[in-house]
Amino acid sequence: MSKKRARHTVPFAALTHVGSVRALNEDSLLALPPLYAIADGLGGHQSGEVASALAIDALRKAAPKQPDAVGLARAVQIANQAVIGGIAKGVGREGMGTTMTAVMIAPGHAVFAQVGDSRAYLLRNRSLSQVTEDHSVVGAMLRSGSITAEEARRHPQRAVITRALGSDPGLNVDTYDVTVLRGDRLLLCSDGLTTMIEDSEIEAILTTSLDPNHAAEKLVQAALDAGGNDNISVIVIDITEDQGASATAVAAMKHKKPRSKLWLWALVWLALVAAVLVGIYFATMSYVEERSYLSTGDSGIVYIHRGLPGAILNFHLTLATSPTFVEMDRLAPEYQARIEMKPSFQSVGEALSELETMVRRSPDYFDTAEYLIERGLINVDVQVPRGGSSGLPGSTGGGSAGAGASPESAPTDGEAAP
Ligand code: MG
Repeated sequence: MSKKRARHTVPFAALTHVGSVRALNEDSLLALPPLYAIADGLGGHQSGEVASALAIDALRKAAPKQPDAVGLARAVQIANQAVIGGIAKGVGREGMGTTMTAVMIAPGHAVFAQVGDSRAYLLRNRSLSQVTEDHSVVGAMLRSGSITAEEARRHPQRAVITRALGSDPGLNVDTYDVTVLRGDRLLLCSDGLTTMIEDSEIEAILTTSLDPNHAAEKLVQAALDAGGNDNISVIVIDITEDQGASATAVAAMKHKKPRSKLWLWALVWLALVAAVLVGIYFATMSYVEERSYLSTGDSGIVYIHRGLPGAILNFHLTLATSPTFVEMDRLAPEYQARIEMKPSFQSVGEALSELETMVRRSPDYFDTAEYLIERGLINVDVQVPRGGSSGLPGSTGGGSAGAGASPESAPTDGEAAP
């Protein structure tokens, strides 16, 4: 029954028929996997078959190498220019035009580009849905809800389309990017099918005909049985494991995507927490390094420290320690009591100045206070080796220490002085 037919080893079938009324088949088809297209030459004009053939040929040449909606739409626009250019060159006749519905299939998705009222459908789980929207007068009325699908099928203006290739150089092309799964079936068809039979019948044929060739034949036969008032073209494409992502793979991707985002967020949060902790560490160490305090131990002398008494998480805050020449039992009792409390100061200089005051005001030091102070209460600086023993208690001592004390015997916070 078919006039033009293409059979291939991949699971698709392309079939077109002149119908029962028209003398000429003005539809043109392209089935060049992964690209498939139907163009329906405008029946109301002369040379519809020229327009559809020009458009299909231009589409074939201009289609992107990989399925891409923007690239496919651009190819349809080039096909539009080819039809317009054909008119200018005298190929065909003034006013010729054509619809164009094209699809390119990639693993996991299909991209569609469409102008006019040739349709694309998706059959999934025995349920048919229309991918494209008709650019026709009745299509607009149907979308607005002013007529029903059945009324649209019988409407006197059902053949009037509102957008076609061949007239407007700035043609708008609708595109769709649809996820496809293994087991899905795609249908492209001209209005010679959809004006003759209902979607429910298309759905039933596509569902019950396992072989795409049988499905295509049955669809065309059903349109012929209904009257065959127009040229009838169908392309049935089965999505196989190679073409479409399997449901399992898609499900895995759905689970994988949020997980990868979760890792990203976790890394961002870890980086932020690390940055905050490092900031806190350096701010704390900067503060601790400036501070100083006094203490004593079993050796009976006063020690001066850089840092703070105590520890955080077993992390000692005393950065350096030096013995002084000041003996505890020669200080006034109130000063001895104060030093037992480990008084803290803004700086080593402030701590030293305070200790000098204590020495001057202690009666046992009245005779020797100035001599002792001039000589220096400590014989070494309490320096902090940055990046060295930072955070670890230690002595900077060296040389001789007063009052029989030795640097090695300097107590550190939390440890008993020898
Ligand atoms: Mg038609």
